[in-house]
Formats: sequence, structure tokens, C-alpha cells
Amino acid sequence: MDVDVGDVAQAAYTGHLPEWSEVESLVEAAHRRFKSDADGTVADYIPVLAQADPELFAVCVAEVDGGVHTAGDIQVEFSIQSISKAFVCALVCQEYGHEVVRDRIGVNNTGLAFNSVIAIELNDGHPMNPMVNAGAIATTALMPGATPDEQWDNIVSGLSAFAGRPLTVDDTVYRSEADTNQRNRAIARLLESYGRIELDPLAVVDVYTRQCALRVTARDLAVMGATLADGGVNPVTGQRVVSAGVCRDTLAILAANGAYERSGEWLFEIGLPGKSGVAGGLVTVAPGKAGIGTFSPPLDAAGNSVRGQRATAYLSRVLGLNIFASHAHTLAAQRKDRA
Ligand code: GLN
Repeated sequence: MDVDVGDVAQAAYTGHLPEWSEVESLVEAAHRRFKSDADGTVADYIPVLAQADPELFAVCVAEVDGGVHTAGDIQVEFSIQSISKAFVCALVCQEYGHEVVRDRIGVNNTGLAFNSVIAIELNDGHPMNPMVNAGAIATTALMPGATPDEQWDNIVSGLSAFAGRPLTVDDTVYRSEADTNQRNRAIARLLESYGRIELDPLAVVDVYTRQCALRVTARDLAVMGATLADGGVNPVTGQRVVSAGVCRDTLAILAANGAYERSGEWLFEIGLPGKSGVAGGLVTVAPGKAGIGTFSPPLDAAGNSVRGQRATAYLSRVLGLNIFASHAHTLAAQRKDRA
């Protein structure tokens, strides 16, 4: 992963964001800095995504107190794609709890691509984690609801609560993917053959495909991320969506798996939990501080937005968000701390 952001010093993790006006100008700076970056390729395995405008670029930071900073094409909607996996995972964690998610879906990285079939075979049919397609399909199958329609309604209302506004499906994206998702159908059938899906696998894939086609903006992603950063309460609407424990579990899963086989590099460069989608969205969570949402369609080889990663790496450094970046206390400060 090349997230070279130039000569930018890493600010230490302090537990709070800089002042409002500083965040405001750094969000604009992140947009300006990477605006003309042309690296990466727009996804085309879902045919309609190939038509995306590679120039579009939006950056948004939503603070846990409800304040929102925006720059660029913030009004443009795109399909949420794999980012939906993070929030459906949170809803399923809320329903079933820590142990069931760990044992039935898993929390470990596959080291393989998001749509790997080999990963399932290598792991005795275990779906491995909720951020790869096998685990995400197994997670969607666990959504509460007696029928696929009821499960779908619960996904839409849950993800809308995270975003703080009603989300709707992009029918063109849904149809384009539904017509070409033989691989996801094969993954679901394979899980079925291992006894890992109790429902009709093709009905589950259909719900999963619809969840991936929900339309969002970079601002929605930032607010959804800020809800996970804020112990499960949407900081804009004030609505509790999931518990604080669910946020902790979901963020740990994201840290380990959010950028698929590049999750180690992602954590090494950015030091925060995050999740990417093939339409170019990216959500990153700074616990207790903010959610970052970016949108830029060109992707790296693992399917992660290139400019999104760079803008996020920059913001992580200048805003002091990297959770591993401590600074030494002076002796005097240590004595004061203990007094
Ligand atoms: N809907 C897409 C798929 O299942 C999501 C993949 C992604 O965003 N990485 O292939």
C-alpha cells in the first residue's frame, strides 16, 4: 500500500481533536493535497461501477459532538458496497453478542482477497470474518427477521439509523451486481455445503447484494463512523443505534480485517479501524473522537480507494488520530499525573 502523504509529522494520540477551526482547515487541506492524485483504477467487475467518474473526491470528518467538516464532492451519492459489512456486523453483534460472532463468523484475517473461495476451503468452511464476502454473507444470514424481506427491512432501518437519514437502494447498481454475482452465489452455496448457512443461500445473497447497493455520501459514512466512535449513539440525531460493547467489538474486527489482505499495512500507516468499499467509499473511526468518510472511485489492487487512503492517512497524522502514536511524558508531567 503506497500511502505516501509527503512530509507530514505524526501528532501524538491525545484523546481529543484539535480545535474546530483547525480541523476545518485540515479537512480542506486533505482534499486540496490529493485532489489531482490520479493513481488507481475504477472497479469494473460490477459492470455499472466502471462508469464512475474517477475525478470525484470528497472528504468528511464528523466529530462525536455532532459537528461535521466537509470538502469536495460531498453531495455525490455512491453505493456503500463492502462498507455495509461493518454496520450489518454491528447489528448482528448487537443481536447475538460477542461469543456468537467470534465463534460462528470469526474475527481473524484470511490473508486473501475479499471474494476468496480458497479461504473457505482452507478453513474447513469457516467464513473467517464478517468483512470478507463469505463472512459477510454468513452475517447477513443472521440478521433478525422471519423472511428475507423482514431481514432487509431491519438492515435498511439499522444502516439508516447509523447514517441519521433514510437510505435507499441504487437499483441500477443492484441489478448490475445481481446479474453478475455468480461468484458470491458460489460462495454462499459452498458455505451451505459446510452447514454454515441455515437459510436459502441465494435469498441471503440477494439481501447482501441489496445492502451493498444502498446509496450514501461521504458525509453519511463519516456520521456512520462517528456513531461507532461515540459508543453507539449517532452524534447528529442523538439516537442510540448499538451498545458501546458492540462498537468495541466491531472496531476490533475492522482493525484486523477492514482492508482485507492489506489490513496490516492499513493499520501500520493509519493506525485506526476502517472499512473500504469497491465503489470508492472509505470509513475510518477514531474512537471517542470522530468518523472520517471519503469518496474517490479509483482503487488499489486489493479494492481500497487510493485517494481515500491517502487523505485518511494524512488526517490521521495531522489530527493525532493514530491510536498507537504516544509521546513520552516528561518526568515533571509524570509526577504531576501521579500526584
Ligand atoms: N458487493 C461487492 C461484492 O460482493 C462488495 C465488494 C467490496 O466492496 N469489496 O463483491
